[in-house]
Amino acid sequence: MQTPFPPSTVLGYPRIGPHRELKKALESHWDGTIGADELAKTARELREQTWLRLRDLGLGAVPSNTFSYYDQVLDTAVLLGAVPARYRALPPGDAYFAMARGTQGVAPLRMTKWFDTNYHYIVPEIDATSPFRLDAAKVLDEVREARELGIETRPVIVGPVTFLSLAQAAPGGPAGFAPLDRLGDVVAVYAELLAALHAEGVSWVQLDEPILVTDLDAAVLAGVRAAYTRLGDRTARPRLLVAAPFGELGEALPVLASTAIDAVGLDLVRGRVPADLGLLAGKTVVAGVVSGRDIWRTHLGSAAATLRAVRAQIEHVVVATSCSLQHVPYDLALEDGLDDELRERLAFAEQKVAEIVSLADAPARAPQGAPETSAPARGVTERSEGAPQGAPVTADSAGGKAVPTARSPYAVRAAAQAAHLRLPALPVTTIGSFPQTPELRAARTGLVGGSLPAADYDRRVRAEIERAIRLQERLGVDVLVHGEPERNDMVQFFAERLDGFAVTKHGWVQSYGSRCTRPPILHGEVKRPAPMTVELAAYAQSLTDKPVKGMLTGPVTITAWSFVRRDVPLGDLLDQVGAAIRDEVADLEAAGIGIIQVDEPALRELLPLRRAEQAEYLAWAVGAYRVATSGAADRTQIHTHLCYSNAAEVLDAIDALDADVTTIESARSHGTILGVSGLPDFARGLGPGVYDIHSPRVPGVEEVEKLIAAALAVLPADRVWVNPDCGLKTRTYPQVEAALTHVVRAAARQRLRL
Ligand code: GLN
Ligand code: ZN
Repeated sequence: MQTPFPPSTVLGYPRIGPHRELKKALESHWDGTIGADELAKTARELREQTWLRLRDLGLGAVPSNTFSYYDQVLDTAVLLGAVPARYRALPPGDAYFAMARGTQGVAPLRMTKWFDTNYHYIVPEIDATSPFRLDAAKVLDEVREARELGIETRPVIVGPVTFLSLAQAAPGGPAGFAPLDRLGDVVAVYAELLAALHAEGVSWVQLDEPILVTDLDAAVLAGVRAAYTRLGDRTARPRLLVAAPFGELGEALPVLASTAIDAVGLDLVRGRVPADLGLLAGKTVVAGVVSGRDIWRTHLGSAAATLRAVRAQIEHVVVATSCSLQHVPYDLALEDGLDDELRERLAFAEQKVAEIVSLADAPARAPQGAPETSAPARGVTERSEGAPQGAPVTADSAGGKAVPTARSPYAVRAAAQAAHLRLPALPVTTIGSFPQTPELRAARTGLVGGSLPAADYDRRVRAEIERAIRLQERLGVDVLVHGEPERNDMVQFFAERLDGFAVTKHGWVQSYGSRCTRPPILHGEVKRPAPMTVELAAYAQSLTDKPVKGMLTGPVTITAWSFVRRDVPLGDLLDQVGAAIRDEVADLEAAGIGIIQVDEPALRELLPLRRAEQAEYLAWAVGAYRVATSGAADRTQIHTHLCYSNAAEVLDAIDALDADVTTIESARSHGTILGVSGLPDFARGLGPGVYDIHSPRVPGVEEVEKLIAAALAVLPADRVWVNPDCGLKTRTYPQVEAALTHVVRAAARQRLRL
């Protein structure tokens, strides 16, 4: 049964469909327009298309089980029978989507970001005693479907250590219980799965273990050793590839090397060729030399050099992606609006597969192994990855290097702002967006499609702004917003207006479930050719005597939610974007805007997976934020919004942002943030959310009052702001009106008690 690994593969592939077919089918299914059968048919077609395409592109080993109706971690929970009791009463299809999205009376499981990506997975809930039970139907069905097309596949499954590390303990369980305590039980189910796949005639299986590139303590490493010793020692099993995307294996490498697994997948884009690579001699190394995390064409010469370095120590080397390609769009050929120079530098999923195939072919054709000098196969020309075509970034053009980034002491600013803004205690504000109505979306589609003249669109947008302003005035909100009707997306809006960015038409990447984003491409020097938000902010302010907040996206978030060039250090890119936002802040101030919010929901997202690298990143992120905001006058109040970020982990960095007011999600997580130690010392304004905007439910006045009182219990009253968890764009006007009425009333009642 010694089936060697074919010379090339990918660790995973996009599944949402080149034209978001799965998104559309899922949403039609959820709203009742199509039945489960039709959804299943679309899903099957997408899987088949992917397998056939990968085969036709010449890829050696084609993966399966990379499809998902929602999320691969949720699929793994189902595979292991780790379905919490409250969902088990529902029919299986309903239970799956109920875990993902909730259903009448049953809340969904939590969702959070997958390592340092912008992909969100469903957090499994594991209790101390429920039995696990193998449900291999999905994995086996995909193997069989592909086989019907004549394609033998390698099922890809989230590995046991990663699965349990990402899980949370079921509420109400014994104190001190952690999901990883059940590693032995879960590994037993993986062993059964291997047996089932062996019986099915599957020759290779891939277990994804990205947790292995994070800092692991000795107990977890011992768990890794035990798990893979046990799985590796099975006699009747397919050969086993353990893939470790997103970084370097570090101390986990010798542990894997000591087990009988057959292959290890290394991320050689993020990580270097390990010094102790030789420990893997005898195993296959799946060398991730083509990035699955960005859209740049691979520098084939350097990739070939990396492969040579691996081959010098390892006999059997497979050319592969660094991680699943689920993080990149399908096909560059779908894009017709990009300029040629940029296009030359890009590779989406299909193009990356072609690169892998050409790298794998190269040694066979060039006996001395010099693929970088031989013409690459399949028309792949060489280009250095992400290299700029314009002027290189110099120290002075790298944004804020030279600008002062400190404002006056907070006490000085606070006094100036109090005199200037004259806000009541417990000021009520919102996070920025108001409902994006169907009419507004239709108008935007009309504008993009050319059927609605720009002047008409602008009129429509201004009417929406007026509606939002009048509503906030009528409800008694203290700090108003214009409602962001002109923004399709909080990052794309700015990317479209800044030099150095390109946006795509079809470059969709799955964010979670049916939700996709089109990350802009930061490819050149970032410059702000003209003000971006000033006109509409000034218009909104002209409608009212109350202060209207200017609304900007911060440099970290713009960068985090874009594909960025790799030839410039991240810190410099952040500073360049920060400098552009700094100019916008100055122009908003000059236009009479007294409060400016600079959103940074992605602050936590780019945090490196290894602790040793985190301080440098946080210094860059904070530095860029301060470049963006520190030019503001003392009397200008700077807000930031951190959204659902895991604030507790980065509280010091949030403090270092030095914003005058910080708003953050709190209602949805039932005030968890208020219990974080260190929060009471947070010496500036803080608005822990009092309205969970994810739910159509309107909170009652007492409920909101309780949340305000909870904030007042830990924070001085003069620091507390009252606001929703996040922007209101996904809600309807009637919901928003009812909820904000209650929020304003609750704040008024709490003021009386101060
Ligand atoms: N200002 C943005 C809004 O209200 C913030 C969005 C976010 O935090 N993700 O929509
Ligand atoms: Zn938010």
